[in-house]
Parts: sequence; C-alpha cells; structure tokens
Amino acid sequence: MKCTRCGGSAEVKLRQHNANFCRDCFVPFLHKQVGRSIEKQNMIAPGESVLVAVSGGKDSLALWDVLIELGYQTTGLHLSLGIGGYSDRSTEKTVAFAEARDLELITVSLREEGLAVEDAARFTRRPACSACGTLKRHYFDRLAYDRGFPVVATGHNLDDEAARLLGNVLHWQMEYLARQHPVLQPTHEKFVRKVKPLYRTTEFESAAYCFFRKIDYVIEECPNSVGATQLIHKDALNKLEAASPGSKLAFVQEFLQRAQPQLASESNAPPRSCESCGMPSFAELCARCRLVREIESKRARHAASGA
Ligand code: AMP
Ligand code: ZN
Repeated sequence: MKCTRCGGSAEVKLRQHNANFCRDCFVPFLHKQVGRSIEKQNMIAPGESVLVAVSGGKDSLALWDVLIELGYQTTGLHLSLGIGGYSDRSTEKTVAFAEARDLELITVSLREEGLAVEDAARFTRRPACSACGTLKRHYFDRLAYDRGFPVVATGHNLDDEAARLLGNVLHWQMEYLARQHPVLQPTHEKFVRKVKPLYRTTEFESAAYCFFRKIDYVIEECPNSVGATQLIHKDALNKLEAASPGSKLAFVQEFLQRAQPQLASESNAPPRSCESCGMPSFAELCARCRLVREIESKRARHAASGA
C-alpha cells in the first residue's frame, strides 16, 4: 500500500477519502482537515482564546494537540467526573499531557463540588449519563463565561455526530435536529460559542493521530456507556460504512447542507435565565440546579432517616 501523497509505504487507509498515508503525511493531512473545518464553519476567529474541553480520551487530546499545532491560543478544561477509577485515570492522562507540554489546564472536581456523577445518579435515580451530560454542559458553559473565553471546543468526532444524527432521525427529534451543528452560536448573554472542530474526523483518524504523535490517552470507555444506545447506532453506521465507504461523512455533511439550515430557521425560543444560578435555562431552574436541589433533598432525607 503506497502513500497517496509521497509514494512511500502507507500505514493508514482512509477509504472515505480514497487515500492512504504514511505517518509523516497523515499528521499534516489531519491538521489540514481540521483547519479547513474550522475555517469553513467560521468556528474560531483569529486571535480568539479557545477553551478546550479535554476528557483524557483520544479525541479531545488529539483536538488539543491539533489546535496548538495550528497556532491557536488554548486553555484546557478538564472535569474530574467522579466515576470511580475511570475518572481518576482520565484526570491523570489529561494532567500528564498538559504538564509535559507546559499547557494551561483548569481542572474541576465534581466530587469536591458535592456533585460526583456516581452520587448524583444514586441519589436521584437518574441514568448516570443523563446526570453526567447535564453537569458537563453546565460547567463548560459556566467556566467559559466566567473566565471570558469566547469559544469552547469539544472533541466530538464524525462517529459521534453521525450516531447522534441517526438517533435524532430515528425518533424525528426536530428540536434536537435543529440544534445539531458543529457551531452553536450563543442564544443567551451567558452562553459562549460551542464548536466541534473534529466533526469530519473519524474515531479511527483521531486514534491514529494519537498513536503517531505518541499521545497517551485513556483507552477504556466510560463504564456507564456500556450498552448505551449510541453504541448500537455507531455499530450500525460502521456496518454501512464498511459496505459503502464515505456513508458517515455524506450523512452528516449533507444533513448540514440540505436539512439543518431549514430546521434551524424555524426553531425555538431562546433560553431565559435560571432563577438560582443565572445561567441559561428553559425553565425556572436550569437542569443543573434542578439536579442539585434533588440531590440536596435526598441527602437530607437520608441523613434524617439515619439519625
Ligand atoms: P463524550 O460526552 O464523552 O462523548 O465527550 C464528548 C466531548 O466532551 C469530549 O471530546 C470532550 O471534548 C468533552 N468531555 C467529555 N468528558 C469530559 C470531561 N470529563 N472533562 C472535559 N471535557 C470532557
Ligand atoms: Zn441554575
């Protein structure tokens, strides 16, 4: 197998691009792909500081590395979620990456905030992934706003976006479809722009990038994601992709070109402000403050019954 770019010996085959690359050509290929996504979608303006949400997994560490290589000014944000040993290992990898490169990293421990995902799920009997998603969204928004970052970048990749699109289409979730875009502009004074520069990059590409760049990441999946519907959708899409390379990319890109703009133009009232914390909310209290209230009242009941 020959490298499409230099004719040397190729190590990765990208069927969706009908191309093969050696490692020396793959790395600049990925930089260019992500750089183009950022420019095409106007994700980051020149000179803007980017808050990069970094989980310790391959996608967000690859994203942070690529943004630095492309010359962006970045700060990492890591939430230590409080999901047992998995979170400890994720935090270790993120901190090691930042320290080795002397990068600025903000770390927030949900356990120290009294909101470890394990406890939140146990006290409220909600699925752990729902509590986790609520808390992640809240802290990304709040830290970006409090620290004056105009934009937050996450490592969502093409596989994530295609699986999310399939899930939304299977249930015709029109509001979610209207908001599924690699760039979300703020609809409230305390929101900042949210971008997904890897939306055209596959999981395989970000894993290969980390391997070639010697980036050490958490390989294990979150223990709560076992059996999650999104994994079933990813599996189905991988089968389609194997039979027809390029399907995932076409599914997402053509949705963004043909359908999403129409849905977005019909959409939704902007959020109001949460009466407790002032962050954007679609009800009196935002999802995070509702979760906190529930946890507090369950904790109080536990304490009273134990006394
Ligand atoms: P996930 O929700 O696990 O699919 O992750 C999607 C993206 O959210 C990742 O690529 C990161 O950018 C961000 N993210 C997930 N977990 C964390 C975390 N614990 N701390 C910071 N960012 C995270
Ligand atoms: Zn709130």
